[in-house]
Amino acid sequence: MNQASNPLSKTAIVTGGASGLGLAIVEKFIQHNIKTIVIGRDEQKLKTVKEKFGDLCIPVAFDLTNLSQIPALVQDLVQQHGKIDILVNNAGINQKKPFVEVTDEDFQNILLTNLTAVFAISREVVKTMLPYGEGNIVNISSMAAQYGLPKVIAYSAAKTGIEGMTRAMATELSPLGIRVNCVAPGFIATDMSAKALDNDPERKNKVLGRTPMGKLGVPADVADAVYFYATEGARYVTGTVLPVDGGNSIGF
Ligand code: NDP
Repeated sequence: MNQASNPLSKTAIVTGGASGLGLAIVEKFIQHNIKTIVIGRDEQKLKTVKEKFGDLCIPVAFDLTNLSQIPALVQDLVQQHGKIDILVNNAGINQKKPFVEVTDEDFQNILLTNLTAVFAISREVVKTMLPYGEGNIVNISSMAAQYGLPKVIAYSAAKTGIEGMTRAMATELSPLGIRVNCVAPGFIATDMSAKALDNDPERKNKVLGRTPMGKLGVPADVADAVYFYATEGARYVTGTVLPVDGGNSIGF
């Protein structure tokens, strides 16, 4: 079925959708006939995604740290593509440094991308959802929000912030028809992370030892959870955090 012949088809924005977990989310949405706007900075990666997914994929080169440009970006997207039904806040950066070596600038930079930009784009998209009385936001957190992990101080602060923001937004927006939820991935093997673990067998054994299911996740595991939240199956679910972590969060 193509987009034009399906009156129920939706439009989504996926930030950071040109690589890693975001790419799997985009693939899942497009498989289900959801027109998907993919935001990222790297034009080459966006071009590759467009070639892979075709008409239903709309690549948009934009750096989300340009907060003042976000309102114009969202207005343009709505003008060009109509109503936005789903926003997936997936873009994120990380930096591993011992606590005492993290500079104020490091801290601000991680928070800017991982938390402030999530707030700013959510606010603008929500403004466009309110007149329709419906919409759906899925934020990507991390197990770092709930568990003490070393050397990721700003990342952990930002992800915990995302989970708090998810609950606060859900409380305010759910009565207005907008659901807000959060997926918290554990150890997911993206191209980069799988290679890093393969090169460090000791760390890999430690990670697997802390994972009751005894294996790493794959990006599709996260994409399936996001799809659930973003669509009708989760119609009575809001303000929640779903760990997708092979059981890390039960403690082991
Ligand atoms: P990747 O580095 O593969 O993807 C991150 C994406 O975010 C990239 O496509 C990047 O686009 C985009 N991005 C980063 N900064 C900006 C910006 N300023 N403006 C626009 N886009 C930006 O990481 P993952 O796929 O691993 O991670 C995706 C999300 O999942 C993140 O929020 C991460 O914290 C979370 N997560 C991942 C886990 C894992 O095991 N992989 C575990 C737990 C959470 P570009 O390259 O074009 O700049």
